[in-house]
Amino acid sequence: VSECIFCKIVAGELPSSKVYEDDTLLAFMDINPINEGHTLVIPKEHFVEMADMDEQTGMLLFQATLRLQRAIRDSGVPCEAINLFLADGEAAGQEVPHVHMHIFPRFKGDAFRVHYDWVSKQWPGREQLDATAAGIRNALEVQPGGATA
Ligand code: AMP
Ligand code: ZN
Repeated sequence: VSECIFCKIVAGELPSSKVYEDDTLLAFMDINPINEGHTLVIPKEHFVEMADMDEQTGMLLFQATLRLQRAIRDSGVPCEAINLFLADGEAAGQEVPHVHMHIFPRFKGDAFRVHYDWVSKQWPGREQLDATAAGIRNALEVQPGGATA
């Protein structure tokens, strides 16, 4: 889509520091890295959310993610561990409406934090967990391809 910044990067209309490219995917450095080495992997096609993306592209995206996380670890940037992050939808923190996987190095003492109210949270009992699981199982079964795809 013409106004999408990641589509513009794919088209070469905006600059990027490329890490990997093939017919389906592009990986490049995040312009505001959480830590050095923070890489984004995107499908070249404009899918807003995961639900819009075909599974073949999704599999290729994860394959590239696996290869890139290894390369980031081996590249010499400070990296004791890796986080993957994919914000799917605005309420999840998605700011760019074009599917993108974040891959970023982590190390002890870095500044990245996930904010969550762990203390006052009421945890569900087994009955609630089972009921929720059943609801998701049912939804999975009615998907095209079913639970196993
Ligand atoms: P999200 O909040 O998951 O939608 O992440 C969007 C990410 O895209 C942020 O981490 C931004 O720093 C990054 N970003 C935005 N514009 C650019 C750009 N022109 N080049 C590289 N990364 C970008
Ligand atoms: Zn796009």
